[in-house]
Amino acid sequence: MTAFTETESVSKIRIPTPFAVGDVNVYVIHGEKETILVDTGPEHPESWKALEQGLKDAGTSPENIDRLILTHHHPDHIGMAWRFPTARIYGHGKLVPWIEKDQLHYARVQSFFREFFAQHGMPPEKVEQILETQEKYRAFVHPAALDGELSEGDLLPGLQSWNVIETPGHAQTHLSFIRTDGVCIAGDHLIEHISSNAIMEAPYEGESMRPRTLLQYRETLQKISHAKTVLPGHGNTIDQPEALINTRLNDQLEKAEMFLQKMGGEPVQAAQLAQSVYKRVFEKQPDLTFSETLGHLDLLKEQDKITMELEDGHVWYQAAHTGKAAERSTGQE
Ligand SMILES: [Zn+2]
Repeated sequence: MTAFTETESVSKIRIPTPFAVGDVNVYVIHGEKETILVDTGPEHPESWKALEQGLKDAGTSPENIDRLILTHHHPDHIGMAWRFPTARIYGHGKLVPWIEKDQLHYARVQSFFREFFAQHGMPPEKVEQILETQEKYRAFVHPAALDGELSEGDLLPGLQSWNVIETPGHAQTHLSFIRTDGVCIAGDHLIEHISSNAIMEAPYEGESMRPRTLLQYRETLQKISHAKTVLPGHGNTIDQPEALINTRLNDQLEKAEMFLQKMGGEPVQAAQLAQSVYKRVFEKQPDLTFSETLGHLDLLKEQDKITMELEDGHVWYQAAHTGKAAERSTGQE
C-alpha cells in the first residue's frame, strides 16, 4: 500500500485476480468528509479478502466507503461493486448495462459480433470461442446499479480537487480522474509493463457504427500526457507519463507498418491477417489478436494507406495503389 500525501490523498491496494493480467490496483481517496474507492477488483473470494485487508491497511473499511467510482466496465474493475451496499456508485453512462448485467444488452452485443466476425472472415468455431470467453469473463461481475453518471469536466462527487476526463479507447466506458496537482488515476488507459489493448466493441444503444477504438485511444492518451503521476489499474505508478505515451503512439505507427507489409498486395480479410501475424496466439486469443489487427487496419485506413471494400457481405482490405485499387485510380486519371 502506498500513500500519496497531499490533500485528498490516495492509497493504493493490489487485488489478486484469476485473469492473465494479474493483480488489479484499486485506490482509496481520503477526502475531508468522505472516503472514496476507485474500482473494486473482480467478484472472487480471494479478491474480496485482499480488498477487505487493503481497506483496513488504508485505515478504513467497506462500511466506511461513501462512494464508489468506476474507471470502466471490465470485470476486474467493477465485479465487487455490489459488496458496497451503503456506497453510492458512479461511472460512465455506458457502464449501466454492463454493471446491471442487462441480458438484452448482452444479446445485442452477441448478435453484432456474430455478424461482424462473419463479415471479417472469422472461422465460425473461433466466433463461438470468443463469445464463450466473453460470457465466462462476465461471470466475475455481480450485478449492481449506478447511482450517478460521470462525464468530462465533472468534479468527482464528495471531493474538491479531482476532475473527470473521458478516455475511451481501451473501453468505451473508460474514465480517468486527475487531481489539480497532476496525480491521475487512469484505470487501464496507460500501463507501464504492457501496452493497453484498444478493445473492439459493438455500437451502443442509439449508435449505428462500431467505435474505431485504436484511433480513439491515440487521441485520448494525449489527454493525460500532462499528468505528473499516473496511478494505473495494473502495475507500477508511472511518473512523468509523457515519454511512455509517446513510445506507445510510435509503437502503434510501427505496428501498423508491420501489418501493411504483411498484407502484401492482395486483398485480405482482418481475421486471416490476425491469424498470419499472431499464429499460435491467435488460436488461444482470437478476440484480442483480432481486435489488435482491426485497430491497426483502422489506423492504416485513416492514413489512406489501405482501402476497404465490402463484397458479398465480406470486408476486404488492400494496400492502396496495388491491385484493384491501383487499376481503378489509373482508370480515373
Ligand atoms: Zn480493462
